[in-house]
Amino acid sequence: MSPIRLALVGLGKIARDQHLPAIAATDGIELVAVASRNASLDGVAHFATLADLLASGEPIDAVALCTPPQGRHDLAAQALKAGKHVLLEKPPGATVSELGPLVAAAQASGRTLFATWHSRFAPAVEPARAFLSEVPARAVTITWKEDVRVWHPGQRWIWEPGGLGVFDPAINALSILTAILPRAVFVTGAELSFPSNCSAPIAATVDLADAAGLAVRADLDFLQTGPQSWDIAIETDRGALLLAQGGAKLTLDGQVLSAQPEAEYRNIYKHFVELVETGRSDVDLAPLQLVADAFLLGRRIDVAPFHD
Ligand code: NAP
Repeated sequence: MSPIRLALVGLGKIARDQHLPAIAATDGIELVAVASRNASLDGVAHFATLADLLASGEPIDAVALCTPPQGRHDLAAQALKAGKHVLLEKPPGATVSELGPLVAAAQASGRTLFATWHSRFAPAVEPARAFLSEVPARAVTITWKEDVRVWHPGQRWIWEPGGLGVFDPAINALSILTAILPRAVFVTGAELSFPSNCSAPIAATVDLADAAGLAVRADLDFLQTGPQSWDIAIETDRGALLLAQGGAKLTLDGQVLSAQPEAEYRNIYKHFVELVETGRSDVDLAPLQLVADAFLLGRRIDVAPFHD
């Protein structure tokens, strides 16, 4: 099979940091075009917008949408209408309901729609899922605290409606949580701290539960300086399980169970190639649904304005 000819849309931080090297390292896919208003790559066909690219007749098979979540639906709809396979960066959209028509369009056209959750491809996530399929969890504490000024410098979209604020990173924790627990979880309460000049929260606590009464507490902060925390601590009958470093390392009572080099985006593109080759889609909206529910149920607290 000839390689999938891919166009990357939105050549920003994640496209440069992760997508470009992962595409280059993956068999079965090659970058042939970029659509980005303010950025281009030497030696790769460039268009300002996806609409310009699709109108040009440049031969592509698939697009990877690395733009902010607001507006991603329109781009995905354009691409599917033009018969292209679509890879969505996380979160897959700005709302849950906008995904339904995309899933239907992909089905109708026989194209692949892949809503990626990069943290699910972190190396210790599968070992954690396997452990928890045998040993019941008694309580779960998520601590997801990072410095927005380091990881999202100058990104205004993250503070706009649909930008998710602190849930932009925290949805990664929820994507792991929903992958490793044996039962579905639902939101039971939340407190969301909104800077007075922003439309998205800068910190939050979220309480969740499952049908068996498992309690999950998520403590989220976007103003963490010093050491960063991307940890999920799980009390079990066999001891304290800790999925640390964003899913890279798993320990039980401090003993290392799994610590492999990370290859999240390489595994994303490997999976995308497999999906396209086998004519399948992969769209799980559970993490986005939990964020939407936290916004639905959350008590809103006004806090100091945020300036980059
Ligand atoms: P970013 O640096 O702001 O890049 C996004 C790019 O999209 C921009 O450079 C811009 O390129 C294009 N764009 C199109 N419409 C835009 C608009 N209305 N506002 C701003 N940019 C627009 O953002 P990013 O950090 O790469 O994040 C993009 C997506 O990847 C987000 O959904 C994010 O959650 C996800 N992600 C980010 C990270 C991370 O560490 N940053 C990690 C994993 C996933 P042009 O101006 O050239 O069109």
